[in-house]
Amino acid sequence: MKRAIFLDRDGTINEEVGYLDDLSLLKLIDGAAEAIRLINESGMLAVVITNQSGVARGRFSEEFLQTVHAKLASELAAQGARIDAFYYCPHHPTEGKGKHVRVCGCRKPAPGMLFQAATDLDIDLGSSFMVGDTLKDIAMARLAGVKAILVHTGYGKEQEAGEVKPDHVASDLLAAVLWIMGEGSR
Ligand SMILES: [Mg+2]
Ligand SMILES: [Zn+2]
Repeated sequence: MKRAIFLDRDGTINEEVGYLDDLSLLKLIDGAAEAIRLINESGMLAVVITNQSGVARGRFSEEFLQTVHAKLASELAAQGARIDAFYYCPHHPTEGKGKHVRVCGCRKPAPGMLFQAATDLDIDLGSSFMVGDTLKDIAMARLAGVKAILVHTGYGKEQEAGEVKPDHVASDLLAAVLWIMGEGSR
């Protein structure tokens, strides 16, 4: 089985902009490409896990979302970094209209995307990590037995430590990955 570092997208890899509904809003956070390159070099998988309720809400189409992921992949590739797989939840339980408005098992903090990725890619969740900027990311990781790191980019600084506690807090994705490669794996 493989180990993975699961990555939230907005506020973790690229700048949090609310709804990313225009390609010009896609901006990598400093150090994110280097962090993902380090994951690639380690032999662990780099897997994006992202809520994109903008689809259900009608803010952008699923096709546009694919375009964003293609652009993100190409910007990372230009810096020698690769995302092994993208998982997204296009749903919202109540907002918007159409087929994506429904209760689902994949909207974080539900752990559906982690379980799906583990099945698809033969990942050992117990030796894997999640990095994200909100407590939803941390709560999801907990439900799947994945260790969790909160980063202080995106909404990270506004997150109140409550019942859901991360295993580690890092300034950004690069610091989180360096921690995972060192202390976090001991
Ligand atoms: Mg986020
Ligand atoms: Zn969903």
